[in-house]
Amino acid sequence: MPTATPPRQFRLIIVGGGIGGLACAIALRAPDREIIILEASRMNKEVGAAISITKSWGIEDELKRGGGAVDSGFQIFRTDGHLQMKSKSQKPIPLPFKTSDYDADRLCFHRVDLHESLKGLATDPSRPGNPATIRVASRVLSCDCESGIVTLENGETVQGDLVVGADGIHSKIRASVLGKEVTASPTGLSAYRLIIPKEKLLTIPHVSAMMTDDNPWTTMLLGRDCRVVMGPCREQSLLSIVALVPDQLMNEQASTSWTAQGSLEDLLKSFDDFPPWIKDTFKACPDISLWQLRDMEALPTWYKGRTILIGDAAHSMLPLQGQGASQSIEDAEALGYFFRDIVAAEEKKDHVTRRLEQVFEARNPAEFMDYNCRYSGAEAWLTGSRAAATAKSAA
Ligand SMILES: Cc1cc2nc3c(=O)[nH]c(=O)nc-3n(C[C@H](O)[C@H](O)[C@H](O)COP(=O)(O)OP(=O)(O)OC[C@H]3O[C@@H](n4cnc5c(N)ncnc54)[C@H](O)[C@@H]3O)c2cc1C
Repeated sequence: MPTATPPRQFRLIIVGGGIGGLACAIALRAPDREIIILEASRMNKEVGAAISITKSWGIEDELKRGGGAVDSGFQIFRTDGHLQMKSKSQKPIPLPFKTSDYDADRLCFHRVDLHESLKGLATDPSRPGNPATIRVASRVLSCDCESGIVTLENGETVQGDLVVGADGIHSKIRASVLGKEVTASPTGLSAYRLIIPKEKLLTIPHVSAMMTDDNPWTTMLLGRDCRVVMGPCREQSLLSIVALVPDQLMNEQASTSWTAQGSLEDLLKSFDDFPPWIKDTFKACPDISLWQLRDMEALPTWYKGRTILIGDAAHSMLPLQGQGASQSIEDAEALGYFFRDIVAAEEKKDHVTRRLEQVFEARNPAEFMDYNCRYSGAEAWLTGSRAAATAKSAA
């Protein structure tokens, strides 16, 4: 008797192996699924400064082991050096996220460490579910969203039952989903990013304490149109600084580049009226980069056929609330939830599209503050919104 061919596994193609793409692979790992990540870069020189996550997602312990530092408070200085916001005990204002009803620490990572930890969780064969395969140097040019066929720069095509466009702010999959190009535009702000080893900071007032106290905190200095936000990462061995300035230099370069080498001289000029100790901190930085901050109008949709956008490809945002990484991880979790019971490749396209619609609906609520801080997964969010709607209609 001929033996029946086993059904082909459900194949997930993730375009982009950044924070959102790797989180998506972790969320969708299952025994009966094949997960392929197509990443344009060679993944051998990841860059970035600090990145924060304020969510409970069940992998915090692994992420902490990968260098995530708990942020325990904050303080704010004025440009004249006066400490504007501190607690009554003259200490930084505590951020007791873990013990509040937010129930999660605010974890600060070097982006490279977070990326490495997520890569490990996505590809580790000892974890439950098939590990993801990462294909580096695989730049995708476009996608046929209905059939789930992506076309790579080298002409190769790869077909998936589900395609996730996690290809960041300059997404190619976005144009395939929307049927037209939508690009992120300059916002008038640029950010200097600095990473400074702790050893260079130990004699600088206010900064040295932040780097050596057992409970590190975030420090902000607020001026009229310039501001500094800084805090330790990589277990307090590095200080990460983001210094926001009006975008003088990069608008002219916008069509070709959004990152540039930063000039210490220009940085010091922009922060001329700030306290001397922050300028000494800038001077201790071996390598300054300058990033243009871009933003995008809300997209009318994130999905089409077998394809969905997540992370910066779907909703690139300014870093002012530190939500870029968290939001892409939440998108991934929602995909994991709505595809939790999908089994084999015969899953009909309409069923896939319906699930993608549910992801889009779950990820677009208006109550953004509660959402930023209380979100604990798609199921809990849906249950909570339904309960609120029922209470409202009963009132
Ligand atoms: C180099 C870099 C450094 C960053 N540094 C910081 C930081 O220090 N602090 C911070 O708050 N945020 C930083 N961000 C932004 C932050 O990582 C994102 O906002 C957030 O994590 C959303 O993740 P994402 O997966 O949507 O996008 P990203 O994390 O940007 O990942 C997108 C991935 O897609 C890949 N890709 C792009 N185009 C293609 C294509 N055509 N085909 C295949 N792959 C493609 C990219 O190489 C990248 O790996 C950085 C982003 C990048 C790319």
